[in-house]
Amino acid sequence: MDAAAPAERTGQGTAPLPPALRAPALGPPVPRTLCTDCGLSRMRIAKACGRACQFIAPDYPAAEAAVHGRTRDPSRPDELHFGPFRRMLRAGLREPRPGAQWTGIATRIGERLLETGLAQAVLTVAPTPGDPWRPMPVIVTRPEGMALCRGMRMGYAPTLALLEPALEVGFRRLALIGIPCQVHALRKIQAELGLEALWIVGTPCSDNTTTERFREFLALLDPHPETITYLEFRADYRIELRYADGRVRFVPFLELPLAQLPADFFPLTCRTCVDYTNVLADITVGYMGGSGKQWLLVRNERGEELLRLLRDELLVDEPESRGRRAGPVRVYAANVVRAAGGLPLRRMPDWLRPIASRLQRWFGPKGLEFARARVEMKAIETVLHLRHAARAKMKHMIPAHVWRLVEPYGLQPEPGEQRRPDPAAAEPLSRPDPGPRR
Ligand SMILES: Cc1cc2nc3c(=O)[nH]c(=O)nc-3n(C[C@H](O)[C@H](O)[C@H](O)COP(=O)(O)OP(=O)(O)OC[C@H]3O[C@@H](n4cnc5c(N)ncnc54)[C@H](O)[C@@H]3O)c2cc1C
Ligand code: SF4
Ligand code: SF4
Repeated sequence: MDAAAPAERTGQGTAPLPPALRAPALGPPVPRTLCTDCGLSRMRIAKACGRACQFIAPDYPAAEAAVHGRTRDPSRPDELHFGPFRRMLRAGLREPRPGAQWTGIATRIGERLLETGLAQAVLTVAPTPGDPWRPMPVIVTRPEGMALCRGMRMGYAPTLALLEPALEVGFRRLALIGIPCQVHALRKIQAELGLEALWIVGTPCSDNTTTERFREFLALLDPHPETITYLEFRADYRIELRYADGRVRFVPFLELPLAQLPADFFPLTCRTCVDYTNVLADITVGYMGGSGKQWLLVRNERGEELLRLLRDELLVDEPESRGRRAGPVRVYAANVVRAAGGLPLRRMPDWLRPIASRLQRWFGPKGLEFARARVEMKAIETVLHLRHAARAKMKHMIPAHVWRLVEPYGLQPEPGEQRRPDPAAAEPLSRPDPGPRR
């Protein structure tokens, strides 16, 4: 079956989209306080935001139990940091796909779902024609359409609003490739959609901002920002930039012009979101714990099935873990205290930056220890930025596991900042993973 969407967008009024992609016109968003426009407020069930939004009152223990059959178990290695998972892998496609952010595992899974008929449509984003950094929500119905979605865009995309047009044309087996705030909302409304199957490929996500703001950052990196086609924050403490003419440039994190960015460069949503690793996805496809390769967290039986779709196309091995994160995380926390208080970030003298960058690459935490460090840094940001900007939200927005992550850095809930402890949440459920639900 092919989607015959009622009205199609062509993005910026430029060339029509290739036939493998559909971009139905979406309704306007309903204004919300903390919102990344995941698309739910554009749907007929916009009122569901109150119970579905990650920024209102998320209940991760209940959501993890509903999706994976059990909550994260802090006694299992790394589940406190990365959420429930069955196994973690370092991986890469034997044949990396052109245009992919890493080797293209995420979009290749989408292709396989369409090739096998396990999904009739994949909901995700593609570059907006004429404005390639801007994510455009698309319904992909043919495997060849997934190649057009490769790569990372910076900005917000109301991908969930595609659910209604997809359901209207009769699709009942759907997949989503999405970021954590989208996945959280989808999980909360999933049972109401009448689906036969839902496959969720999640990517980690952090430090997102609007496409307009992201362009300001590119302009600080290069006098010709329009020639930058790719950017990634790598696990070796450098960003990689690729250019339209084929050039590649690496810039150490410590040499980035972060101190020149305005305090509100990252919206409060992305400074305080609590799910870096996309814990409600069936499989998370990232890079943080991969030491230069991709990093997969297979979270449940559906995730195993998604991995099996790639069979011998993947090269896999065990993630490594080196170094100690406590020192760098402590330094980071001190900087967040300054930033949350409106003070400028400490600038390192220019002469010291290249030396410090090299030391960071040699001695900084690597592999899983790098991923743990990033998750802890994000948890610290959540607590400090909410405490400064939206204290009343802390009680409902910060799950108990985030408090456990920040505790070693001297951060504890102050009166009124924590929900009354939920006895059910303290005891991890030991129900078995229920396997595929189609
Ligand atoms: C804003 C952002 C921040 C990220 N930060 C991290 C991080 O800190 N650590 C980490 O390990 N990984 C992060 N990722 C994920 C990482 O960039 C790769 O997408 C992931 O590793 C998959 O690589 P791949 O080659 O398999 O992807 P590809 O096969 O190239 O597919 C990428 C998929 O991501 C989707 N996508 C691209 N941009 C967006 C967007 N703005 N919103 C929603 N979906 C999008 C595309 O539609 C496509 O389906 C982030 C992704 C985004 C969008
Ligand atoms: S559920 Fe989505 S649309 Fe609704 S408030 Fe949250 S981010 Fe915004
Ligand atoms: S950082 Fe969090 S809130 Fe922001 S876009 Fe990513 S998942 Fe959503």
